[in-house]
Amino acid sequence: VPADVRELLTSRIHDVPDYPKPGVLFKDITPLLADAKAFAVLTDVLADLAEQHGATKIVGLEARGFILGAPAAVRAGVGFVPVRKSGKLPGATLSQTYDLEYGSAQIEVHSAGFTEGDRVLVIDDVLATGGTAEASVQLIRRTGAEVAGVAILLELGFLEGRKRLERALAGAPLDVL
Ligand code: AMP
Repeated sequence: VPADVRELLTSRIHDVPDYPKPGVLFKDITPLLADAKAFAVLTDVLADLAEQHGATKIVGLEARGFILGAPAAVRAGVGFVPVRKSGKLPGATLSQTYDLEYGSAQIEVHSAGFTEGDRVLVIDDVLATGGTAEASVQLIRRTGAEVAGVAILLELGFLEGRKRLERALAGAPLDVL
């Protein structure tokens, strides 16, 4: 991503200290979404990545991955598949459980979301511990689809999420804009 594009995107992300609880630095992407130019530029960058990696589907991770992934899928000319928190998808699903700091979480995807030979680009806004993205990669592979890569708008570098996700990706590309 060219420096001026990165500068445009990062300048539209708002740091909110102590939200939703003390000690968390929340990365708020709503100013970026509200800026037509920045949102269009981001959509183009993500669609280009989908094409570069030969993706045939885009997966968005609930909830902000939906907002970023859906327009990128339309732009790239590929289908969009949501990965959701448990209990939200009406069809036959596969699910994946993963550990949180306290307790665990579960995500699901429709098994019928992918067809034979699909290559999937996974999109989300923030990489923190990497747990959500790692579980998504595992979930998508269990459907029989191939993971073409993961694209994330920004990472919280001190959380080592990248290392964990790269291990799970086993050579598939991780793009942090
Ligand atoms: P993790 O599984 O820890 O990598 O967390 C990633 C998910 O949680 C993403 O879907 C993000 O949208 C959200 N998230 C985690 N930490 C933050 C943060 N500091 N600011 C905004 N979103 C976050």
